[in-house]
Amino acid sequence: MSATALASVPRRVKICEMGPRDGLQNEAATVATPDKIRYVDLLSASGLAVIETTSFVKPNAIPQLTDAEAVMAGIDRKPGVTYLCLVPNMRGFERARAAGVDAIAVFTAASDSFTKRNINMTIAESLDAFREVVSAARAEAMWVRGYISTAFGCPYEGHVPVEAVVRVANALAEMGIDEISIGDTIGVGTPDRVVDVAEALQREMPVERLAMHFHDTRGTALANVLAALQMNVAIFDSASGGLGGCPYAPGASGNLATEDLLYMLHGMGIDTGVDLDRVREASRFISGVLQRAPVSRTFQALEAQAVRK
Ligand code: MG
Repeated sequence: MSATALASVPRRVKICEMGPRDGLQNEAATVATPDKIRYVDLLSASGLAVIETTSFVKPNAIPQLTDAEAVMAGIDRKPGVTYLCLVPNMRGFERARAAGVDAIAVFTAASDSFTKRNINMTIAESLDAFREVVSAARAEAMWVRGYISTAFGCPYEGHVPVEAVVRVANALAEMGIDEISIGDTIGVGTPDRVVDVAEALQREMPVERLAMHFHDTRGTALANVLAALQMNVAIFDSASGGLGGCPYAPGASGNLATEDLLYMLHGMGIDTGVDLDRVREASRFISGVLQRAPVSRTFQALEAQAVRK
């Protein structure tokens, strides 16, 4: 890369694909199990290293995700790909283990009113609940990821102080969680806040342990990725096609689109190991199922180009 101001950003980035779980969970239409399996398999073929596949939440808690076992049994598990599954408690952990899951994620937030409404626990209660899950997972040599939602703002509390994010991240790190994903759940973050949070966290733990999860609700997701790259963060979450609207703002964009992220990173000469065209293929498939065009700008631009050719 010739741009000297950006010369020190990471040369390689890992992408955690959120489409099948975070993405579909926020879609109104129920997707049939075979379609979910096909979607995961198409994503697997793109070179993505981590695919958040499903969630072992209480059956019926989230109608879209009652088929976790069937999805895990049906997918073609490609060597080298991590099929991450959300696990809220020991019951979910036991189900995940029985389904042959080897990578789990636990989720909390940086604001109490969010965890209260989302999982009916305070942050402290959620951390207590995870301790057992994480130690059981570690005993099985599973890879464990932790999510901190509302790190840049809460739909109920508004501003979330950096110290609150650091406190929760430290608690997760102390449990031995391998990777911590800092989430902008409602898409309110701006690059200055990203730098502040990344800086504060790197005083506590190595940057290799940190991922960032941006939502494009207000159009700031890629600007935030760039700010995080400049802080040496090299792991980002995104969803193919930009799947998953914002649950707190009907009609608004949610997850940063994997295609948009790939376009920017590859344009900057950053290696991801992911084939953008293959991700598009997966997005094309799931958008056909959902009967809704992907919100990803890059997806739309490339599709329009293909038509014109
Ligand atoms: Mg998300």
